[in-house]
Amino acid sequence: MQNPVIVCLDLEGVLVPEIWVNFAVKTGIDELKITTREMPDYDALMTRRLNILAQHGFTLADIQSVIDAMGPMEGAADFVAWLRERAQVIILSDTFYEFALPLMRQLGYPTIFCNQLEIGTNGRIVNYKLRQPNQKKHAVAALKNLNFHVMAAGDAYNDTAMLGEAHAGFFFRPPDHLPKEFPQFPVTRTYAELQEQFRKAGGLKA
Ligand SMILES: [Mg+2]
Repeated sequence: MQNPVIVCLDLEGVLVPEIWVNFAVKTGIDELKITTREMPDYDALMTRRLNILAQHGFTLADIQSVIDAMGPMEGAADFVAWLRERAQVIILSDTFYEFALPLMRQLGYPTIFCNQLEIGTNGRIVNYKLRQPNQKKHAVAALKNLNFHVMAAGDAYNDTAMLGEAHAGFFFRPPDHLPKEFPQFPVTRTYAELQEQFRKAGGLKA
């Protein structure tokens, strides 16, 4: 008999838009469009982002209201609801609880493992804390150790270790170059396709 199924999902690019990119578009602050592609040093990138937010006088509440207005991707809430009727679902994300909160509300508060922001007395973000390096892979390994059958889906480089660690891993709308580099992970483009892959690989009911 197969062990009970847990599905680990990336957040940004799978269930919700890229938070920083969309925040930059919504606020018109182009400097916030810079990602790890342009600036591989994550600490330097985050320090710069926090400085830009401070320069523009954004408090956490301001940022949360912008994120709230982004909303999840079309069909994401129904997809999560479908999955939660059939398996345990955990979102593994490199974002921060404080940013994810408005989006989690719109997805019915699924379980999410991510990182923390430090908020000053004036409501400004003063620092950030990553819970542990390579947390997505560690979470999947720990769940396997608890005798779960783990499946995962993600869209980017920071998901590939998680997809590789899972019993079954799938790309969801990845950039074109990624499947060439990681041909072992089947590519899905719609929630219906991802449901079908999870159904087959995890024995989930239709
Ligand atoms: Mg992503």
